[in-house]
Amino acid sequence: MKQALIERVDPIEIYERDGGLCWICGEYVDLLLPATDKMSFNLDHIWPLALGGTHERHNLGTSHRLCNQRKGVRTSLPAAA
Ligand SMILES: [Zn+2]
Repeated sequence: MKQALIERVDPIEIYERDGGLCWICGEYVDLLLPATDKMSFNLDHIWPLALGGTHERHNLGTSHRLCNQRKGVRTSLPAAA
């Protein structure tokens, strides 16, 4: 039986790799904002888990909570035919 690939990922590591910039809108993400703030730091799955994405560093990106919500399960990649 094949197990889903799960990496232990520190969100701050992803944040620092991305230079604190949201990968969706390109604007700076303020780590000090409370989690309830719509512009707070959110770890986004670039290729959504619902579409077979994995919880690995290369599939994780810094984002604003609002940007992540707006994106939903869509991606910037063309849908498979
Ligand atoms: Zn954003």
